[in-house]
Amino acid sequence: MNTTTTVLGYPRIGPRRELKQAVEKYWAGEIDADRLEEVASELRASTWTDLAARGLDTVPANTFSYYDQLLDHAQLFDAVPERYRALGLSELDTYFAMARGRDEVAPLELTKWFDTNYHYLVPELDGRTTFRLAGDKPLKDFAEARALVSRVGTPGVAARPVLIGPLTFLLLSKPSAEASADFEPLALLDQLLDVYAELLAKLAQAGADWVQLDEPAYVQDRTADELAALKRAYEELAALPNRPKILVASYFGDLGPALPLLAATDIEGLAVDLVSAPDVVERIAGRPELQRKTVVAGLIDGRNVWRTALGDALSRSAVLLGSVGQLVVSTSCSLLHVPYDVDAETGLEPRVRERLSFARQKVDEVVLLGRALRDDSGVDVDLAGRESDAICRPDDFGHNAAVRARVAGLQPADRERAPYDERAAAQQDALGLPELATTTIGSFPQTAEVRRARAELRKGSIDQAAYDERMRAEIEHVIRLQVDLGLDVLVHGEPERNDMVQYFAEQLDGFATTQLGWVQSYGSRCVRPPILYGDVARPAPMTVEWASFAQGLTSRPVKGMLTGPVTILAWSFVRDDQPLAETADQVALALRDEIADLVAAGLQVIQVDEPALRELLPLREVDRKAYLDWSVGSFRLATAGAPTAVQIHTHLCYSEFGAVIAGIDGLDADVTTIEAARSRMEVLADLADSGFRRGVGPGVYDIHSPRVPEVAELSGLLRTALGSVPADRLWVNPDCGLKTRTYAEVEPALRNLITAAHTLRQS
Ligand code: GLN
Ligand code: ZN
Repeated sequence: MNTTTTVLGYPRIGPRRELKQAVEKYWAGEIDADRLEEVASELRASTWTDLAARGLDTVPANTFSYYDQLLDHAQLFDAVPERYRALGLSELDTYFAMARGRDEVAPLELTKWFDTNYHYLVPELDGRTTFRLAGDKPLKDFAEARALVSRVGTPGVAARPVLIGPLTFLLLSKPSAEASADFEPLALLDQLLDVYAELLAKLAQAGADWVQLDEPAYVQDRTADELAALKRAYEELAALPNRPKILVASYFGDLGPALPLLAATDIEGLAVDLVSAPDVVERIAGRPELQRKTVVAGLIDGRNVWRTALGDALSRSAVLLGSVGQLVVSTSCSLLHVPYDVDAETGLEPRVRERLSFARQKVDEVVLLGRALRDDSGVDVDLAGRESDAICRPDDFGHNAAVRARVAGLQPADRERAPYDERAAAQQDALGLPELATTTIGSFPQTAEVRRARAELRKGSIDQAAYDERMRAEIEHVIRLQVDLGLDVLVHGEPERNDMVQYFAEQLDGFATTQLGWVQSYGSRCVRPPILYGDVARPAPMTVEWASFAQGLTSRPVKGMLTGPVTILAWSFVRDDQPLAETADQVALALRDEIADLVAAGLQVIQVDEPALRELLPLREVDRKAYLDWSVGSFRLATAGAPTAVQIHTHLCYSEFGAVIAGIDGLDADVTTIEAARSRMEVLADLADSGFRRGVGPGVYDIHSPRVPEVAELSGLLRTALGSVPADRLWVNPDCGLKTRTYAEVEPALRNLITAAHTLRQS
């Protein structure tokens, strides 16, 4: 049987972020729902037209979303919490209310989609949840796609509706605040399967030959009950008399024990990610059941931006050809996680650009590989040619021999500082800080003037000197305010930073930045991750000028402010030709040199932010130790060159440490600031239990809310904290940077925070 081609999903925000603009205009009341839907339907149409015209045999439908696909499903299944129903809004406005909240109604929780930087909304379920098919989005979407591709594609091109699978939907949901203590979302499986049965029947009736059910939750460790539920669910769905063929899609890792379970059911197809789990090829070849099934082989990386070594992908596909019923060439996951089109990047260095493949180019790669595998191929000559120029090749362009030699020569001692007690004493001598020392996390409000200065510099209406002048004025204002408030350790406020990763990427060798390389992060929020293509080096100091200017304005210590190696990697597209650990060490060395320069310039406190340490944590337990070893190791390499008397801070943007708790201790920072306001300091007890005994600053002021906390509330939190941490190691600070807040909120909040600290010091 001939090999065919597809992709698991496609970006939806629009090549020029058209959906973002339309949705935001709708929220602002500038366009109505009909106009919004028009923009959306044009975007869907152009996507399907393009995918079919480029030669895919099957295109995915229902991968479009106004905000988030999990939210779409919650509404489709009528899992709409009462607080949103009670608003009495239209369907669309109820949807956006769940996504964004409304005056007094909080939104659903937003959280990371597996180990990506995409965020989904967490459905809330409880014993009273009654699922029903409350909409027809997948059906409408499918009908639209089918009509379109039959017009533009080659004859026979089909559309395949995509749904989140029932297990992944439940496993990613959480019990609502009203749920009883023993409620588990999985208890709703039978109910939910009835809704899927109804939906599948309707899709079959509408002419869907296949349906794709995404079950990425099974590339994570799952309990025996969860595995049994998967088996039972797909046995039941497969037994339905009236349904499309079922493709269960997995991505971001290996299905592990779920692979044989699914293979043994009567579903017709299985999609596997052969990029993150190349060994799965052998496991597939060893499963006789798969000889009767369709296997969708994720051979083209859907999460990174490099051209595929097609010759290599071709030989791996050849192994599969003999062991499966039907082979479909595809991407490893939805292309949602990469930008649209390399050809739109006119400003990229050609030697970088020629190595890149964004969503459009990846579709071409899929099509080409599929053609090479067809009986009537004749294109393998092309592929052999393509292999030689694939991916980044540091042995020529982007190569830096000095950096490579430095990494190769690293010794364990390069990651070690003096023992903590010795450091603490030296730092106390140098800094003379009081108990319950007060500080902030780094950024101060990014005012309209600050953003305007950046925009004007970009447009060329002011020059660099004028821009620098405005930044210095802003820094002076921020320093004066902090002195006036009475903070103990000051910051310069980060006015010059557009983004905590891009700011560094723009100054380091080995990184490229794009003009239109937008990727959806959540809702209408998009990011442009830098592209780390070569060896990383620091041609010149990056933050020293601003930091030493700030330090020159005051006799109090100013904290130098850097982004850590793991976070820089997590929020960039990274080279895949060497282990991440090695790339992280290169970034760490650049930061180590920056710290040396900051120290030479007179900075005595330096913070290295690692908010993404938890994000890159591998999905399966077995891989976590190795990850923590290299990630923690790179942080230590960055910071261990600091003299004993220099105080190293780190900041982590979350409060549930779970699996990373050992890693946090391993960072060996003198002071660690964390989120804790929302959990009412609970996390401190966990930290203390784990044996952590260095300085810690549990955020007492929740900066995610516009509320100004009262002194009594702040001292209450600090008193709780003192139950787990002695006063000379307890720091008093907000729980994250202040850049999204206004001065009208920040000033009184910091005043209260300082009053609370002072009151407790005296008692
Ligand atoms: N130093 C950064 C800031 O204050 C930290 C941001 C973060 O934790 N994401 O903005
Ligand atoms: Zn933070």
